[in-house]
Amino acid sequence: MTKNLGLRTIAETDPELWELILAEEQRQARTMRLIPSENYASAAVLEATGSVLTNKYSEGYPGRRYYEGQQLIDQVEKLARNRAKALFGAEAANVQPYSGSPANLAVYFAFLDPGDTLMGMALPHGGHLTHGWNVSITGKYYNAVQYTVHPETHRLDFDAIRALAREHRPKIIVAGATAYPRIIDFAAFADIAREVEALFVADIAHISGLVAAGVHPSPVPHADVVTTTTHKTLRGPRGGMILMKKKHRKAINNAVFPGLQGGPHNHTTAALAVALAEAATDEFKVYAQQIVDNSKALAEALSERGFELVTGGSDNHLILVDLTSKNIPGKVAAQALDRAGIVCNYNTVPFDKRKPFDPSGIRLGTPSLTSRGMKQPEMVKLAQWMAEVVAKPEDEALTTRVANEVAELCKGFPAPGIPIR
Ligand SMILES: *Cc1c(COP(=O)(O)O)cnc(C)c1O
Repeated sequence: MTKNLGLRTIAETDPELWELILAEEQRQARTMRLIPSENYASAAVLEATGSVLTNKYSEGYPGRRYYEGQQLIDQVEKLARNRAKALFGAEAANVQPYSGSPANLAVYFAFLDPGDTLMGMALPHGGHLTHGWNVSITGKYYNAVQYTVHPETHRLDFDAIRALAREHRPKIIVAGATAYPRIIDFAAFADIAREVEALFVADIAHISGLVAAGVHPSPVPHADVVTTTTHKTLRGPRGGMILMKKKHRKAINNAVFPGLQGGPHNHTTAALAVALAEAATDEFKVYAQQIVDNSKALAEALSERGFELVTGGSDNHLILVDLTSKNIPGKVAAQALDRAGIVCNYNTVPFDKRKPFDPSGIRLGTPSLTSRGMKQPEMVKLAQWMAEVVAKPEDEALTTRVANEVAELCKGFPAPGIPIR
């Protein structure tokens, strides 16, 4: 008699891998995650991600597919699309991009020829690789022009951005960042794009959860196209999404499929639909506001302990710390903090005097901690631990003690989607 493989779980069929998953689960449960692009997806989102929808091919779009058997998949994709449009007030949506990077590439593919001019924020100033940075395909295939932040305020400098746009007349201007702690003025970008007759693309990968909840201004009324990941503050599965004006729908849809991708990941589309429904609730609005409140509280508590913050604080989910005055490189600090159960990443600061692999800063974000229910008092504790560890990064007794205290605190704030075992 053959065994029914369907009833066996990973723990039985692949114990080696199961151990790794369990250990990662424990790591995520026992540490304070300050990586601003990470989050804890809900159990419902994880469930959809692990569903049989992963088995189905559905190249094309609802009603126009290249395979049969789409009766239910079409409904899943339409549900995700309609929820996206309703949540963000967008005219049209494409929920098929595999992630944020392919979403951006699809937009460029829809509107640019190789060699055309693309203008975005420079990576060392907070922009993303896919905004035209030189090692990315977007910097190699297109003529990328990069704007920076203001040399003194370290904020977006719209006079300089306008001057650069007038000089280079880009076909696309991209607004959006991976390491910018302040509100982005999308109306100002739209005004510049209009003047130079560029297409305005807003990439809200980091902040789409804040935008959905109304705690960051929305680019949707101002931008031709809005791209986002679905797994950062939006708290969905790993994926990407494009919102757009109706007049761009055909070009974008053709660029995603068949231009760039094959079959959509239907399990991800379903999980996105779940996340979008969650993001439409009042609870989500409370969560998004708390992300910002926590970020401000952490920024203040760090400032009080002598940490220098880029732009002096935070309006969103993210804090960029310049460790120059603490006499410790970003990498050394990030590694010591990791040993202490406080997980962040080293990062360049604007006009960094150190090298990109060994920069002066660390980047912090509050989405994950907020998803666990942590509030201002926990942010103050966190700043205290960070100050201790950064002062003595080599002190192993200290990092071990802090790691234990962090794990103890984390026990009181169970993470969404992680079972208590
Ligand atoms: C994270 C991010 C992306 C890329 O998303 P991936 O899913 O990692 O490909 C694109 N743009 C911005 C601004 C991001 O922060």
